Amino acid sequence: MSKALPSRAQVVIIGGGIVGCSVAYHLAELGWTDVVVLEQGQLSCGTTWHAAGLVGQLRSTESMTKLIRYSTDLYGRLEAETGFGTGWKQCGSVSVARTPERMTQLRRTAAQARNYGITAEIITPAEAGELWPVMRTDDLVGGVWLPGDGKANPSDLTQALARGAQRRGVQVLERVRVTGISVVNGRVRKITTTEGEIETEILVNCAGQWAKQLGRMAGVTVPLHSAEHFYVVTEQIAGVRPDLPVMRDPDGYAYFKEEVGGLVVGGFEPDAKPWGMDGIPHPFEFQLLEEDWDQFSIIMENAVQRVPALETTGVRMFYNGPESFTPDNMFLLGEAPEVSGYFVAAGFNSAGIASAGGAGRALAEWIVNGSPTTDLWPADLRRFARWADNDTWLRDRVTETLGLHYAMSWPNKELETARPLRRSPVHHLLEAGGACFGSKMGWERVNYFGAPQPYTFARPGWQEQVNAEVNACRTGAALFDQTSFSKFTLKGREAVDVLQWLCTADVDVEVGGVVYTGLLNDRGGYESDLTVTRVAHDEYLIVTGSAQTTRDFDHISKGIGERRAALVDVTGAYAVLSIMGPESRNILKKVSKADFDDFPFGTSRLIDLGYATVRATRMTYVGELGWELYVPAEFAVTVYETLRGTGVAEAGYYAIEAMRIEKGYRAWSRELGPEVTPAEAGLGFTCKKSGGFRGADRALEPPARRVVSIVLDDPDAHLWGGESLLADGTPVGYVTSAAYSPTLGRAVALGFVSDASTGKCSVDVAGELYSAQISLKAPYDPTSARVKA
Ligand SMILES: Cc1cc2nc3c(=O)[nH]c(=O)nc-3n(C[C@H](O)[C@H](O)[C@H](O)COP(=O)(O)OP(=O)(O)OC[C@H]3O[C@@H](n4cnc5c(N)ncnc54)[C@H](O)[C@@H]3O)c2cc1C
Repeated sequence: MSKALPSRAQVVIIGGGIVGCSVAYHLAELGWTDVVVLEQGQLSCGTTWHAAGLVGQLRSTESMTKLIRYSTDLYGRLEAETGFGTGWKQCGSVSVARTPERMTQLRRTAAQARNYGITAEIITPAEAGELWPVMRTDDLVGGVWLPGDGKANPSDLTQALARGAQRRGVQVLERVRVTGISVVNGRVRKITTTEGEIETEILVNCAGQWAKQLGRMAGVTVPLHSAEHFYVVTEQIAGVRPDLPVMRDPDGYAYFKEEVGGLVVGGFEPDAKPWGMDGIPHPFEFQLLEEDWDQFSIIMENAVQRVPALETTGVRMFYNGPESFTPDNMFLLGEAPEVSGYFVAAGFNSAGIASAGGAGRALAEWIVNGSPTTDLWPADLRRFARWADNDTWLRDRVTETLGLHYAMSWPNKELETARPLRRSPVHHLLEAGGACFGSKMGWERVNYFGAPQPYTFARPGWQEQVNAEVNACRTGAALFDQTSFSKFTLKGREAVDVLQWLCTADVDVEVGGVVYTGLLNDRGGYESDLTVTRVAHDEYLIVTGSAQTTRDFDHISKGIGERRAALVDVTGAYAVLSIMGPESRNILKKVSKADFDDFPFGTSRLIDLGYATVRATRMTYVGELGWELYVPAEFAVTVYETLRGTGVAEAGYYAIEAMRIEKGYRAWSRELGPEVTPAEAGLGFTCKKSGGFRGADRALEPPARRVVSIVLDDPDAHLWGGESLLADGTPVGYVTSAAYSPTLGRAVALGFVSDASTGKCSVDVAGELYSAQISLKAPYDPTSARVKA
């Protein structure tokens, strides 16, 4: 691993941990070999060397599960390919449940796994005991067996990946520390190191817990924070044999893995201990932190309960190594929106060994193709924004995210730490009205009005309240605060040309016209769906989902190219107050002199409202007559008070969700995504017949699967999303969004099926099958005549 620094390279990778080496390996595999890996110490000396090496395949989304499944395939063949041992053993894993709720979660997980092509078997406590004889089972409810899971030696894997890359021509240089990154005209230009400079246009930041600092060198947001993370290695235990599966006891926060006849006992405590508040000391190489038995005690006490032999077994070694965690427990992948050519793969939340193979390949493909080749949204760096690069916020948030690995994954679970952060100007009014808040993209948003209720897989305690909010909207009107919508203005002589190319729909409309449209990638898949309002001949207001601010801004900015148009994020400048329902027109007439009788659907204009002037847009996401009011932030309180003075009901996002599903409206990141075309989504009608937009040639190809509406027959069963759909016992698709429909008196959902089969199907709800109706049409069309009037 020579130190002769080249003066130029096509790609420079910073960090010689498992992730950097995997990116290098996959770039080389794709034929990009003018690649240099720079490591400040020795390969794997950062976090990788002390990982426990568990590789669990199951993740919460299909794309992330596929990504890790690829890791297991790669690790299985790497030794034969490179001649380097990796310690890979497909030993399988057993996860056990101490409570009925955890068992429900495992059953849901197993059903999902089967949908993603992973073998998962529900097992009894006795069967769990047969697979893992040294555990106590009399206090268990059951478990799940995943035979495809495995374990590996992280340092050996890293060496094997590095060798595989080097054999194809990649240079791996140790003891070279990156000290500066120069950016010219928004592009990476040069890397400064302790050994000299390298010119490059593509940099990949794989610096683990150091990645935040390397981001800041170039103004790139890499929101992660270190936390201490622990495991112990025990003396030998009778009955612990080399082929013992990995075992996870999430209710006890603990995992177990065989090592030299003893056990590695580690875990994820619910209240983690952040580290590195003043930065990471240098050097920090093959280094551990001090033992902290107090912090580890919650894991150890539970471990002893599960494996009684631990009571009398000595501990050979206590590992306390820092690892980087992100605000939502998913890693950070992709090209930074701030700097072209600056890629990131970091923040692996103690799943970096499992994820490195798939994440390395996905990022290498992204670099070579210029865009991702699969749906990587859950890990996309652009799910955050600059506000997330705040050390105090990150420190407080990671106390919670580490523990999420083994926390119950309750439906609609909200994170509790580091809140509130972003608040609507009317937040205090909503709070005084009794709102129960959730959070998205840092925004506090009303879920419903009423007291917080315990989490459950069954029908939740807030359902009655949400039903009341839905009924108020369907039969009268309701007021929603949707301020968290992302909002941009695109202004310039060629703004219309930019949007005509990016948007599936024709947006060259009259001033005041509002158009719902998709934004596609070159494969015809949805990058976003949003509305554009022509507010002047050379200016558009673009409104998109709360979570997509950075991603959509980046996509549209890149689409501008050389054209004369400027995009500005105006999210914080406007509150959005929506008034929806058949009575909305009459209510608005009480507070405004504008002509709401002559105000067609899909139009927008400035109106007076009380003392204020606001933009009223006739649009709906709930399927009722209604207006979204775009209110300059300084008028928001006044307008909200004025509207509330009419006596209109207030409602939250759970009601919106139920109503949009009843009406069959798709949501991006659920029914729509980079791998879903308008034809599959049933949104071909939003595509210009003349074509001429990005992705047009693929948008309407015959669909391989379809988005469908689903209505359960049993009025008492509850759906949450993620459930499998079966026809004659065979998986044919899955549920993407679900809610209880007070209008229909049963659960409604949207989902994918592999062909356009409609009619009867079964839904697997935690192992129990419920019959349902599938249809391409929405189950409920609230008086369409009135909506379009
Ligand atoms: C106790 C513990 C147990 C774990 N168990 C598991 C497990 O069972 N399964 C699993 O999947 N994951 C596990 N992990 C997580 C896993 O170890 C990490 O996610 C993974 O190693 C991250 O790899 P990386 O390449 O991103 O980071 P690192 O291995 O830290 O690599 C980053 C490298 O960048 C280098 N670097 C930083 N700054 C610079 C610079 N300026 N110039 C040059 N080089 C630089 C560093 O020296 C470092 O070597 C565990 C972690 C811990 C702490």
